[in-house]
Amino acid sequence: METKYIFVTGGVVSSLGKGIISASLACLLKARGYRVTIQKFDPYINIDPGTLNPYEHGECYVTVDGHEADLDLGHYERFTNVRTSRANNVTTGRIYQSVIDKERRGDYLGKTVQIIPHITDEIKRNVKLLGKTGEYDYIITEIGGTVGDIESLPYLESVRQLRWELGQNSLCIHLTYVPYLKAAKELKTKPTQHSVKQLQEVGIQPDVLVLRTEKDIPTAMRRKIAQFCNVAPEAVIQSIDCSSIYEVPLKMHEQHLDEIVLKKTGEPVNGEPDMASWVEFLEKMRHAEKEVTIGLVGKYVELQDAYKSINESLFHAATYNDRKLNLKYIHSEKVNDSNVDSLLKDMDGVIIAPGFGQRGIEGKFSALKWCREHDVPTFGICLGMQCMVIEFARNVLGLPDANSTEMNPTTHDNVIDLMEEQKSVHNMGGTMRLGAYDCHLDPDSTTAKAYGTTKVKERHRHRFEFNNDYRERFESAGMKCVGQNPATHLVEVVELPEKRWWVGTQYHPEYSSTVLNPAPLFLDFIKAAIAYGEEKALKSES
Ligand code: GLN
Repeated sequence: METKYIFVTGGVVSSLGKGIISASLACLLKARGYRVTIQKFDPYINIDPGTLNPYEHGECYVTVDGHEADLDLGHYERFTNVRTSRANNVTTGRIYQSVIDKERRGDYLGKTVQIIPHITDEIKRNVKLLGKTGEYDYIITEIGGTVGDIESLPYLESVRQLRWELGQNSLCIHLTYVPYLKAAKELKTKPTQHSVKQLQEVGIQPDVLVLRTEKDIPTAMRRKIAQFCNVAPEAVIQSIDCSSIYEVPLKMHEQHLDEIVLKKTGEPVNGEPDMASWVEFLEKMRHAEKEVTIGLVGKYVELQDAYKSINESLFHAATYNDRKLNLKYIHSEKVNDSNVDSLLKDMDGVIIAPGFGQRGIEGKFSALKWCREHDVPTFGICLGMQCMVIEFARNVLGLPDANSTEMNPTTHDNVIDLMEEQKSVHNMGGTMRLGAYDCHLDPDSTTAKAYGTTKVKERHRHRFEFNNDYRERFESAGMKCVGQNPATHLVEVVELPEKRWWVGTQYHPEYSSTVLNPAPLFLDFIKAAIAYGEEKALKSES
């Protein structure tokens, strides 16, 4: 079949969950046997979100090919089980950079370079890039931002042109918000009407409207919206708030979103999507009664999106272990040796979060010392793993000055140090050790047993590493380097085999956990946390 392009735009307010709707549709089309991918176009000027503070834009997701990407790509992978790449996330910065590079090379042959057609052509070229591979039947393109934003205009103009060029092989879904006014006890459709008008003004007629709402929108009201907006009544779909984002694909299917898309793009509607495994996951989620309590120690805890992939991985793992996840955010800046006991004593397991810089680092050491001494299942990720190494060096190896040169460039005991190839790096954007690298595991390690294999490939995002000069001292004192890169011998995983569950990974296993393919290390960590929690409960009973 010819590749079909689905555009997803948003109006009224931001944060409506375009990413979740796009991912849900992709999930349904995939469950019908289509080859699907989703890409996101972000209207900001940064080349990629790698240089953005998590407070600005939440977590930075990393693709297998080493692209620092918008966190929506994480949703795409978690919902579809299809890996994304650099081509799946494009920003205005990248579009302009490419156009300016072409201009400098003389590719435009003396022409005046303008937003239309040069920027829009570059956007269109990028939209069609994944389609050209022949690997996908449907390409869903999410346009970041909101209709009416100045910076979104070139994208909408490109969508207008593409819809014209692609005809039935394309479709536009517009997502809006229907607010409920408590005082009037009424749902209001006017913002949606205005938003669609704005879209029509730039020449785009949506085929499907998805209305975000807290309350059920009556059929008559949906009809009214359909009439005002030139959309078929059955193509006005509501997206009511759900207890879990993973319910959304089924909610969309109940209202036939997948069938509408197939029909409108000229595909036959045969049978039902195969959502059996997905439904099984949801059943587990709904039936889980007992809790597992995990403490996440990090410095961005005010903003839950900052640790999105970790949250989701923990949730997948808890669900597959038939538990409700009770995730407690613990602000690393507020942890110290005197309050750590009260902060952590109720945890079944503790995660030490990734991150950058000095802020909150001492709290991570206090938490780690307490967890190690109380033998609590503990999982350190990236900076969290580096903190495990430093804490062990200070308190077990007796090196009080031990540190990472990221925190103290003149430390005597640089147990974590800048990677050799990073020493000549001056530009901050896209220059870390990024993407998936091989890691070979010691067959007796907790990590290898969790994966069920000794050869894994996980994604990285860091500049600093374990200093191999100290390896022997660590190993003889009980901290084992159980995972390493076969080519460079960089240490990727450390463990304390004496402990119940003590694993630190230089890589980020959270980026590869999906609903249908949960991350093995998270599954094993949660299993250990449950066992520890039960043991604690038994002890307190007796
Ligand atoms: N700041 C550390 C480094 O660059 C860890 C990075 C991270 O946690 N992602 O090595």
